[in-house]
Amino acid sequence: MNAETILRLRIDRLKGILKSCTLCPRKCLVDRTRGESGFCRLADDVVVSHALPHYGEEPPISGTRGAGTIFLSSCNLKCIYCQNYQLSHDIFGERIDIEGLSRIMLALEKKDCHNIEPVTPTPQIPQVMEALLIARQRDLRLPLVYNCGGYENPEVLKILEGMVDIYLPDFKYGTENDALVLSGVKDYTAHAIPSIKEMVRQVGEELSMGEGVAKRGMLIRHLIIPGFISNSLEVLGLIKKHISLSVPLSIMSQYTPMPSVKNHPHLRKRITRDEYELVINHALDMGFETIFTQDVDDRALVPDFRKKAPFDWS
Ligand code: SF4
Repeated sequence: MNAETILRLRIDRLKGILKSCTLCPRKCLVDRTRGESGFCRLADDVVVSHALPHYGEEPPISGTRGAGTIFLSSCNLKCIYCQNYQLSHDIFGERIDIEGLSRIMLALEKKDCHNIEPVTPTPQIPQVMEALLIARQRDLRLPLVYNCGGYENPEVLKILEGMVDIYLPDFKYGTENDALVLSGVKDYTAHAIPSIKEMVRQVGEELSMGEGVAKRGMLIRHLIIPGFISNSLEVLGLIKKHISLSVPLSIMSQYTPMPSVKNHPHLRKRITRDEYELVINHALDMGFETIFTQDVDDRALVPDFRKKAPFDWS
């Protein structure tokens, strides 16, 4: 069997999962091919909010010409503080078919982006992978970045072997209680650990670079949440224990309070420089080898997906 036939069979397996959906750990068991909807409320077509060169990711992902980011509608988490809530908490965007998604990928390559980065692909992964195969057959060369929230079904990730070049998962929570309070799931950590281990198995624990940008590998993101510093320390401990100290980390300070949490005693604030430095110093003391950092400032760089250019703050 040639490589393309193997990929086609894997995509058929992924599409089969839509008939009793277990694409993510919510395992809604609905038949999305018949219009039934589970937690994410998605059917078996594709819903895209925006596709654009994105300059706000880490330097190895955005490079100088931008990541080729495809913002997909709906997420399998429901973080109460989500900055992308307009599209992650609702069905938001244009319904297109798989051919249309493959054309978007090819158009991002024409715009000279460094990669193709669907966000969040988890509930639409069969469609994304079928579109990717079509685009590859039409000479798409860019690496695929799988940018997800870390709440994955590791059995589904196993099917993606050879299709994903760079995994960019969040590792949001070190305790199940924080995950339940902030994202409404009771088994985040239990799934994040084996999922990220599977990602590392596929692409290795480091980032392979070429021409100043990532071509293959892993980068784990963690957003520090005000009032939940102990959660961040727990996350670092779990990555050290279960994954590796060599895997690059992106420790993010960019938390910005959304209107939905304006009355929450902690979430209505931003993190302080002292809190950020505490987490960074803890990671350094633990021996993490590569850490991407952010400035701690008061800028509220929250995208507005109702606009054609959601990241244009001018
Ligand atoms: S992808 Fe959507 S329907 Fe499928 S298990 Fe997850 S939340 Fe449920």
